[in-house]
Amino acid sequence: MAKKIVAGNWKMNLNADSALTLIKGISEVSLPSDVRVIVFPSSVFIGQVVEASSGIEVGCQNFSNEDKGAFTGEISINQIKSIGANVGLIGHSERRAYYKEDNALLKTKVDQAIKENFDFIFCCGEPLFIREEGKEFSFVREQLNESLFHLTSDQMKNRVIAYEPVWAIGTGKTASSIQAEDMHLSIRSWITEKYSAEIASSVSILYGGSCKPSNAKELFACPNVDGGLIGGAALDVDDFSQLIKSF
Ligand code: PEP
Repeated sequence: MAKKIVAGNWKMNLNADSALTLIKGISEVSLPSDVRVIVFPSSVFIGQVVEASSGIEVGCQNFSNEDKGAFTGEISINQIKSIGANVGLIGHSERRAYYKEDNALLKTKVDQAIKENFDFIFCCGEPLFIREEGKEFSFVREQLNESLFHLTSDQMKNRVIAYEPVWAIGTGKTASSIQAEDMHLSIRSWITEKYSAEIASSVSILYGGSCKPSNAKELFACPNVDGGLIGGAALDVDDFSQLIKSF
């Protein structure tokens, strides 16, 4: 069975003090033990957030596809692991849009993570114009085909995919539960086609895009929605805790 997950992407928000206040606040809440909770602070705070967190995993928002060396401004998986993070985001729509990370580059990040035995959440999702053209399924399938579906069955087992329609991220426009379930079901059926039903049922498929306590229950109740990747609502202890309790 796919693991239930709620992950908070803090993006380029907070400073050292407010990041610590947030992680301490979340750590104090009594949370369901069957939900994997992950936060993604800015990399500069990862070490401090790891030390202050209790029962919550800490991840990095971005990492290099290289091992080490002359790559100014980059951070390697080895460096991230050395300060206690165990999981990274790959292919967030903001990395795709602002830093031109395309499917081919993201494949190299997937391969680097596999090589380093580093867990990751692979993000996919269509921009508004693609949905308006009715091409969202082929668009997302191509993202997965070109960056993720080259993995072997063993490598694909228990992976985490976040479906985040770009038009819903930070806009207040949430995909309806029908739109989310349609895409999640399709993603699971592509995994079944390419791998097997057993592998497909082991993969957690998260929804992301203006998910908040008021809509999470309906989204998380969908049979193929295994949780959420949360932006704005992850910056508030009460909202984030409520989201974790929304299954
Ligand atoms: C995100 O950036 O991954 C995200 C889902 O953001 P928000 O919840 O703010 O739409």
